[in-house]
This record gives sequence, C-alpha cells and structure tokens, in this order.
Amino acid sequence: MKKLANKVAVVTGGNSGIGLATAILFAEQGAKVAITGRNQQSLDTATIEIGNDSIGIRSDVSIIANIGSAYQTAAEKFGKIDILVVNAGIYIPGPLADYSEEQFDKTSDINFKGVFFSIQRALPYLNDGASVIVTSSSLGTMGIAGVSAYSATKAAVISLAKSFSSELADRAIRVNILSPGPVETPIMTRDGATPEQFEQAKNYLSAKTVAGRLGTSEEIAEGFLYLASDDSKYMIGGELLLDGGMRIK
Ligand code: NAD
Repeated sequence: MKKLANKVAVVTGGNSGIGLATAILFAEQGAKVAITGRNQQSLDTATIEIGNDSIGIRSDVSIIANIGSAYQTAAEKFGKIDILVVNAGIYIPGPLADYSEEQFDKTSDINFKGVFFSIQRALPYLNDGASVIVTSSSLGTMGIAGVSAYSATKAAVISLAKSFSSELADRAIRVNILSPGPVETPIMTRDGATPEQFEQAKNYLSAKTVAGRLGTSEEIAEGFLYLASDDSKYMIGGELLLDGGMRIK
C-alpha cells in the first residue's frame, strides 16, 4: 500500500537536492506533487524526474505577494493540499566580523521570513489535518563558527513550528521540523566554491559527524515521508534530526 495515495503535496525548492529527492519519493508513494523554485528550466527537468503528472511552479519565496498564487495553481490542478514541505533555503556562510547587511537580509528573507509567509499564505489552500514540514538544520541548535546568520534562521523556524502547531490545532494541522546534518547537494557550491574548497568543506563536515560522511538527499527524503504520512500522526511541533550524529560529536 502506497503511503501517500490520494494525497496532494507541495514542496518548495523542489527542483534540487533534498527537495527534489523528497518530491520523487512522495510521487513514488502515490502523491500528486507540485514543486516550486526560481528557475523554470530546472523545474521542468525536475518534473520529468518526479513523474506522476507533477507540476513545477516558478515562485520566489522572498516575494511574499506572489507565494499564494503558487498554492492556488497547485490546488486548481490537484485539489487542496495535504502535505506542505517548506524547504526552499539558501546557505551563505561567513564570519561575524565580515558578514554584510545584504548577506544577512538575503539569508533571513528566504530562510526565515520566507518560511513564515510560505505557511501563512498556504492556509486557505491546506486541508484540515494537513502535515506541514519545515527544513531546518542540525546547525539550528549548535554553535559553530562562521555560520551564525544561517544557523539563527534555522533556529527561528524550529520556534515557528511549535507556535504554528498550537495555533493551527483547531484545524488539526501539524507542523514539524526536519533537521538534516550535512548533506551533499548543490547548496554547498552555489556560493561560488571551487571544487577544491568543496572537497575541503566535505572533509571538514564529514569529520564533524559520528557517521564520518555526508548524508544523501535520499536518506533525508525518507524522514520527510515519515513526517508527511500518518505514521507520524502523534508528532506535533516536533523535530526529526537526521544528522549522522553531528549534534552529539
Ligand atoms: P539546494 O540548493 O539543492 O536546494 C535549495 C532549493 O531552494 C532549490 O530548489 C532552490 O531553487 C530553492 N530556493 C532557494 N531560494 C529560493 C527562493 N528565494 N524561492 C524559491 N526557492 C528557492 O540545497 P539543499 O541542500 O537541497 O537545501 C534544501 C534545504 O535543506 C534548505 O532549506 C537548506 O538550508 C536545508 N539544509 C541543507 C543541508 C545540506 O547540507 N545540504 C543541511 C541542513 C539543511
């Protein structure tokens, strides 16, 4: 029996990395999937990979006024939404002393404000009983040098999931967090890192885990499936940590 049969799912940032692997798994498990992202070409390529009649909607989560229309498009095509994965995010590392206001605003606009409004604007399109899952990070509750602004946005969304779960209890909408540890995805090279810097970062991050390696997007997608399905129905305002033991090392 497919775990997401007859369900409608939306995955923000579903055209790459963790979001794409999640969209693929959800479609395999029977869901009708709409993905959002900023690049139409990669959205089109991704929907072919996802299959099952999936659609790709161009939508930037930092342009708040336009977020609702993406949900409207998804709901018109498939019906109201049962699963919302709020996953779009960016990673701009940098030391406290050098971090610019522009870097801070961009990080905060997409990773924090974007998450708040991605959930707010979805409310009219969500079915009662829906599962909302936000991608945080193991860094959200750690204190690692050089990633403070990013980590703070990831801490903020853990708080949002708790508050929203209380606030949406009358509609039985549960909001949970999935916190991945380091995962090999394009996010690590989007900031213009050279292959050498990428290798260095990979080795550094691998050594920070008990597992001794980076995670894969597919391993993280299995966590999203758990949180999306009724298997996790008693989990409300909680956090699933899939970090290869990074937080305990
Ligand atoms: P990725 O770069 O492959 O994917 C990020 C996705 O977000 C892309 O689809 C991108 O188009 C989308 N996106 C970015 N800005 C957007 C915007 N303004 N509007 C709409 N979409 C936007 O990286 P990923 O590693 O798959 O990241 C997915 C999530 O996982 C992010 O929230 C990231 O912070 C989080 N995360 C990643 C890691 C990791 O090590 N890769 C670890 C912990 C958490």
